[in-house]
Amino acid sequence: MSTNIIVDAIDVTKQYGDFKALEGLSLQVERGGVWALLGPNGAGKTTFLKCLLGLKQFTGQIKIDGYDIQKDPKKAKHQIGYVPQHPTLYNDMTVQESLRYFGDMRDVKRSRLRELLEFVGLELWARQPVGALSGGMQQRLMLAVALLSDPPVLLLDEPTANLDVNRQVEFRNLISLLVKEGKTVVLTTHLLGDVDHIAEKIMLLNKGKLVVKSSVADLFKQLDLTSQMFVEIPDTSKEQDAISALEKAGANDIEVKGSWYEMRIDPSKKVSILNNLRAKDCEITDFKIEEPNLEDAFKKITAGEGN
Ligand code: ATP
Repeated sequence: MSTNIIVDAIDVTKQYGDFKALEGLSLQVERGGVWALLGPNGAGKTTFLKCLLGLKQFTGQIKIDGYDIQKDPKKAKHQIGYVPQHPTLYNDMTVQESLRYFGDMRDVKRSRLRELLEFVGLELWARQPVGALSGGMQQRLMLAVALLSDPPVLLLDEPTANLDVNRQVEFRNLISLLVKEGKTVVLTTHLLGDVDHIAEKIMLLNKGKLVVKSSVADLFKQLDLTSQMFVEIPDTSKEQDAISALEKAGANDIEVKGSWYEMRIDPSKKVSILNNLRAKDCEITDFKIEEPNLEDAFKKITAGEGN
């Protein structure tokens, strides 16, 4: 099935006793790209992932690529690859045996196993026991297992939480390749800095409900979060020209501090600011930009809720 909505959750409620971990949650995930599922501790992220994976009963409806996870679980589950936070592999099996073991359960051709080993960069480790792999390699092997049946959706639970910086970059690169192939990736993370690098779209849960669903860029726009830009123009005789060029390019709250000009700008205006200054013959010797980040955004959202 190929509608634009790949995950369609309608009025999902999950109760533990009297407590509602998810309360009438409705959200639609459009096909393609990386979505970060965010929220404070206890917001319901894990519960929602488990509902998506068909591991929890709930009221309401969830369809994965058109298949209802409660009515047609086999087909729906076939559309999802899941990478849990902690690898669930057998340490005594080799890398190759692990892929064969899980591949046979899903009737996957041997050629696909070789393709995946190569994709996650573990060909040279094929005959090594899983227990001998580093955490980053085990994570990549889990990704290969999740990709066995070539599902259109990948769910990643805290994918980079246990990886050092270099391994995080490697993992993100793999995710980017999968997105280029057209996969939809939904990941949870506590690392907001990670989201800026990996996900262009976010869904924020709070108290079992969806609070925000947006691209990161649109969220910054909606919340009116601007970038801070700093430009160094040593020639003081150019001050008036520089200020008028900056104003013309849409800079706000311009302050001159010695040879440095500080201002707030729409993140999309960086280049026109520099071009306007050059057009007025203002020689720029240095500049830097501080982009808005999700921490600023969430502070603003929670402040708005009065929490
Ligand atoms: P975290 O970021 O801490 O992992 P989360 O957003 O994933 O949190 P969940 O684990 O989905 O949140 O939990 C949502 C709420 O449901 C929490 O208040 C939690 O205590 C409660 N909860 C989760 N599982 C159970 C359970 N099996 N029985 C009772 N309550 C539960």
